Amino acid sequence: MTRLIEAGTEVDCARCGERVKFQARVKSLQVICNVYVRGRWDRVEHYHEQCYHEAGDPHGVAA
Ligand SMILES: [Zn+2]
Repeated sequence: MTRLIEAGTEVDCARCGERVKFQARVKSLQVICNVYVRGRWDRVEHYHEQCYHEAGDPHGVAA
């Protein structure tokens, strides 16, 4: 899913490795993906919205 990055967000982008951080003057978007391995929930990955698209939407097109 695509979400606005909220104040206090402290996660690293799964693609570029840089912090996905809140910037007060920029409405940035992040993509949050629940990753399933063999049908079971494994982890949550965060991406900058742009990184997610550059990666080829690895977990499907974000809703
Ligand atoms: Zn990124």
